[in-house]
Amino acid sequence: MKILFYDTKNYDKDSFQDTLKANNFPGITIEYTKSDLDPRTAALADGFDAVCAFVSSDIGTQTMEILHEKGIRLLLMRCAGFNNVDLETAAKYGIRVMRVPGYSPEAVAEHAMALALASNRRLYKAYNKVRENDFSLSGLMGFNFYEKTAGIIGTGKIGAAMCRICRGFGMKVIAYDVYQNESLKEFVEYVSLEQLLSDSDVISLHCPLMDSTYHMINIDTIKQMKDGVILVNTSRGALVKTDDLIEGIRMHKFAGVGLDVYEEETNNVFEDRSDEILEHSTTARLLSFPNVMITSHQGFFTREALGAIAATTLQNALDFVAGKESPNDVKIG
Ligand code: NAD
Repeated sequence: MKILFYDTKNYDKDSFQDTLKANNFPGITIEYTKSDLDPRTAALADGFDAVCAFVSSDIGTQTMEILHEKGIRLLLMRCAGFNNVDLETAAKYGIRVMRVPGYSPEAVAEHAMALALASNRRLYKAYNKVRENDFSLSGLMGFNFYEKTAGIIGTGKIGAAMCRICRGFGMKVIAYDVYQNESLKEFVEYVSLEQLLSDSDVISLHCPLMDSTYHMINIDTIKQMKDGVILVNTSRGALVKTDDLIEGIRMHKFAGVGLDVYEEETNNVFEDRSDEILEHSTTARLLSFPNVMITSHQGFFTREALGAIAATTLQNALDFVAGKESPNDVKIG
């Protein structure tokens, strides 16, 4: 099986090559390209059996059609999310889509807590102040998480890990999900979304991006939140309507906002740093607020998670070759 690996970073190549060497994945070879997968680059897949792509790839109808023309039968997503994949077109052409549903939920949950803590205690500001010899505490006051309420939206693998972390901080943990996670019932109280919004001191988003969750954080839901709440999003940017978030920040609704994901992520806003783009960028506007901390989709980025991503992706390829069904198959609906 020949796999074309798109959007290769050095750390991807290292972890996949190390995993290939350390384990037995017979017959699998990988070629790496720095190009990301989109309609302009899909034709590079000519002569390969499978492509490996990521959250940033544009795998809409046009890309899928070109992949089909080039004979691709397997799309290996080396991530959990697949909202950027046109599953209908994949199904129409018999292209199997597989993903890595849970490589290290703790990696993302720990980063979510890091964002909550850093924005609560203004660690980014403190870091810069001290480096400039300013040891004053002005602008750095936060609040204790101990005995406060954490509201977790989506209690799958990452949300559950976040619930456990919040419990470890001595927080009361409430959650909203369309399905309840039995393993959390001992210490998590499931409530309505409305109650979660109005009762939480820290809100963390851990549900996938779907039609039903698109812009779930908007001016109406923001208004229902407590004043001085901390909002963290490590899930997908479009769960939050950015213009409304900016309005909420202007209304002084938030003590802090920590974002690992943002709506403009896929438009390469920060790779193409032209002044004009930055001027109209909502992400750049968000960065102008002192209580907002943004990281660059790094929640998954730990040694453990990268190793697990490589091992599962390669096992997915082997399952495909063996014609085995897999819980990692992405199906419509
Ligand atoms: P998961 O499938 O295990 O859990 C998602 C949960 O969301 C499920 O319990 C589901 O019932 C729930 N959900 C679905 N619709 C909902 C709704 N309308 N309201 C509330 N809850 C709803 O997924 P996971 O592995 O925990 O990942 C969660 C998300 O984290 C992924 O979809 C992905 O977008 C994101 N993610 C981010 C990074 C990162 O690096 N920042 C890495 C991996 C995953």
